Amino acid sequence: MNHAPAPSSIVFSHPEFDQHEQVCFFSDPDTGLKAIIAVHNSNRGPALGGCRMWPYASDEEALRDVLRLSRGMTYKSALANLDLGGGKSVIIGNPREHKSEALLEKMGQYLESLGGRYIAAEDSGTSVPDLKVMGRHTSHIGGVTEQIGIDGKLNNGDPSPATAYGTFVGLKAAVKHRLDRDDLNGLKVAVQGVGNVGYRLAQHLHAAGAELYVSDIHEDQVARAVKELGATAISAEKILDLDVDVLAPCAMGAILNDHSIPTLKAKVIAGAANNQLEAERHDAQLMERGILYAPDYAINAGGIIDIFYERTGYDAAKVRAHIESIGDTLSEIFYRSALSNIPTGAIANKLAEERFKAL
Ligand code: NAD
Repeated sequence: MNHAPAPSSIVFSHPEFDQHEQVCFFSDPDTGLKAIIAVHNSNRGPALGGCRMWPYASDEEALRDVLRLSRGMTYKSALANLDLGGGKSVIIGNPREHKSEALLEKMGQYLESLGGRYIAAEDSGTSVPDLKVMGRHTSHIGGVTEQIGIDGKLNNGDPSPATAYGTFVGLKAAVKHRLDRDDLNGLKVAVQGVGNVGYRLAQHLHAAGAELYVSDIHEDQVARAVKELGATAISAEKILDLDVDVLAPCAMGAILNDHSIPTLKAKVIAGAANNQLEAERHDAQLMERGILYAPDYAINAGGIIDIFYERTGYDAAKVRAHIESIGDTLSEIFYRSALSNIPTGAIANKLAEERFKAL
């Protein structure tokens, strides 16, 4: 087993380096495992974050991702008032070609070697069964326990129902603030991506009386929303500038950019996708256009809240109540933003920093 701190010339001067506490590089020639684990900040508790497996084009790309994503987890958990720090791990490789039981077991050993400073959960390219293989060698994994979730259904640890519910609660807080409405009856909502989170969000919205417009690159996902929820199918090209009240991005990141922002018609952006802003400046551009943006890591924190309680004692009512506090956090962000004329994303960052830097 080889693991050594990265040379300072690579990490400390990296544009994404943000005083990360620990960055470890691991390699194992026998299984082909190459991984990086980054602990950004552990002031509030052990660093929890996904383990991503991705065919990165270069080591530099993998390092960039792990530095950026681990920092994001610190902000997300702090803003959600969880006793967790921020961390992330990346495995360099194509999950369809390079993933093996031996490789996952080795990853479990590496996780164990950090002694619980970092806790891994599923992410792109890894699944709950993969995490369980790692778990043969470590207890430092999360989101893997079969239990009755917040929706009252048996769940394998998948945080998507919790994320969807939190996004629904946050969307309602945004609608209240921007459109001064307490109910969603007849509200037009466009959902981009009706996968694990987006479809469940659409179910909540449908039950609340919203009019749904959905798009997805998978036809069957769209067909299900049309059939089950009375949604209108929209092409992937048209969903972003549809004339609706709310746009809920639930597919991929960087969709709020120089190209999309000028033609947006929605007054509220409230969806679960990570890293929705292509660049920091797009936060201000949305505000200038009078569009209320619910910061992504604030509104999509339901999943991490769910995983936190899995580790500390799961009680569905408690988890639900904590997820519902996402609405209060967003209302505070919107209020502070209106008062100071500072965009919502910047306010969220400031609020999160108040919650982890002062400790
Ligand atoms: P998913 O893969 O189940 O769903 C994403 C859906 O978006 C898929 O159905 C996919 O076909 C669709 N899609 C991809 N590109 C598209 C495009 N150009 N136009 C329209 N649809 C497109 O993933 P998920 O778990 O539902 O996560 C959705 C987003 O929420 C991701 O950005 C994820 O990082 C974020 N998120 C998820 C969780 C969670 O608990 N699952 C937690 C926090 C954040």
